[in-house]
Amino acid sequence: MKVLKFGGTSLGSSSRMKALIPLITSEKQIIVVLSAMSGTTDTLVEIINLLNQNRKMEAKKKICELEDHYKHTAEELFDSQVYIDTGIKLIEDHFQDILGFTQEVLTKLQEKAILAQGELITSVLFHQMLKEQGINSGLLSALSFMRIDKEGEPDNFYIKENLNRELIKHKKNQVIITQGYICRNAYGAVDNLKRGGSDYSASLIGAAIHSEEIQIWTDINGFQNNDPRYVTETRILRELSFNEAAELAYFGAKILHPNSIQPCKESNIPVRLKNFMNPDDPGTIITNQITLNGIKAVAAKDRITAIKIISARMLLAYGFLRKIFEVFEIYRTPIDMIATSEVTVSLTIDNTEHLEEIKKELEKFGIVEIVYDNSIICIVGDFIAEKNGVAVKILEAIREIPLRMISYGGSSHNISVLVKSDYKIKALNLLNKELFEITK
Ligand code: ADP
Ligand code: ASP
Ligand code: MG
Repeated sequence: MKVLKFGGTSLGSSSRMKALIPLITSEKQIIVVLSAMSGTTDTLVEIINLLNQNRKMEAKKKICELEDHYKHTAEELFDSQVYIDTGIKLIEDHFQDILGFTQEVLTKLQEKAILAQGELITSVLFHQMLKEQGINSGLLSALSFMRIDKEGEPDNFYIKENLNRELIKHKKNQVIITQGYICRNAYGAVDNLKRGGSDYSASLIGAAIHSEEIQIWTDINGFQNNDPRYVTETRILRELSFNEAAELAYFGAKILHPNSIQPCKESNIPVRLKNFMNPDDPGTIITNQITLNGIKAVAAKDRITAIKIISARMLLAYGFLRKIFEVFEIYRTPIDMIATSEVTVSLTIDNTEHLEEIKKELEKFGIVEIVYDNSIICIVGDFIAEKNGVAVKILEAIREIPLRMISYGGSSHNISVLVKSDYKIKALNLLNKELFEITK
């Protein structure tokens, strides 16, 4: 059974939702994973921020606007008055829940419950739409099987057991709809898989049922060799390996949630990226096949903080790096890039939640300098194939850009450079011109 995930853009309006019907009815039996309609989760985040600032009137206004948007969608989505009324009633119930949270100070648990509403409402409307069209479908709540453990990691055993048990109830449904992004935590409360997490939901589901293929449908033909938001002349990559895709997703290629590759890689399930506006295009296929052909793609990750630790004591001292890494381990903060010299260690992080504490700890070892607002530009490919000259080619392409750090040799398929974010777009375009133009 295939798993098809449709993101917010594919569900952006009633006409877009209706246009998905032929895509999902052409398959035998499928699981459809849905995000919230585009913009919904952003609006829910704004509502939470307003409530946390005690700006209740503004929060309520935003809630009403969002409710109106959904009601308007329902009016267009359904043909008959009976379904319009049912849809509107379902929407009102969910918005009553959201309004219920405006009475008191929000807890973290309540914030998560608000964030879950987008996927809950969208999936219920989508299910009603299929029902009205006479399509044999069932709604399977992700909250009945998707769970994270105390560390915030997916509880794969629980997911597999519960999903496969729930699926028995849907044996006769051709389309089984569920929500992406939302889950329960180890204590049973509503939680989520972090922003953009519907892709991750789809791959966890695919792995749990040993799916034949996971399809991520969005608004672009597939994985591009550069970020289409900043570079106009991008090219589609027809094939990618799991490692290449994971690296690009981790370093900013928004088309895929960074965690979504691991479950598919472990179970060797192909991931196909497809465009709902151009369904005949085969898109990009991600498998464990490595295609050897030099520099493949470029991606950029923003909001990177660079930390430099300068210590004369580092000279010839063993155990120094361990002590530094321990600080990051204690504060559960992943390090992306690292460069060392005799007296300094430079590294980058993107999670600054514990930066103050980390800085204090690191100051025990030397002078600590922090630089905000950097971007990691990551160049992915198979660099063994190129043997020599590849680093020169990359650095030559961006010779005008001041580089703060360079990472080469960590893996055979990634070269990364750190630049101030102001230079990101220029760097992406220069790399595009110099690295890909000849092969176009
Ligand atoms: P969805 O709402 O379907 O989850 P997203 O906005 O999360 O869609 O992801 C799709 C977007 O990712 C595309 O519209 C594109 O602008 C952006 N993107 C960034 N990097 C890439 C890339 N390398 N290839 C394709 N799309 C990319
Ligand atoms: N709706 C969620 C978000 O906007 C999850 C997703 O779209 O994947 O982050
Ligand atoms: Mg997305």
